[in-house]
Amino acid sequence: MKGKILFLSIIVLSSIISCNSKEKDNVMPNNDKEVLSNVKVINKLDPVCQMPTSKHLKDTLTYDGKLYGFCSSNCKEEFKANPKNFIK
Ligand SMILES: [Zn+2]
Repeated sequence: MKGKILFLSIIVLSSIISCNSKEKDNVMPNNDKEVLSNVKVINKLDPVCQMPTSKHLKDTLTYDGKLYGFCSSNCKEEFKANPKNFIK
């Protein structure tokens, strides 16, 4: 009887331990900036890559008095380098 309880507690313990290590594995390295959800931009799509800014907004730039949103700093830099290529 005592042996069975010990056996069960080992199972419970090991499942807790494996559960914890699983959670650790799920933690992804977060190099990306967080999505900006409270920023209003005038463009619905990233002018560079056409991604919807509502879902992928990570960087913004004020150009010609308007706030443009971008999915990434790369797209912003590309836009900044030559905005007229992207604004029609
Ligand atoms: Zn983009």
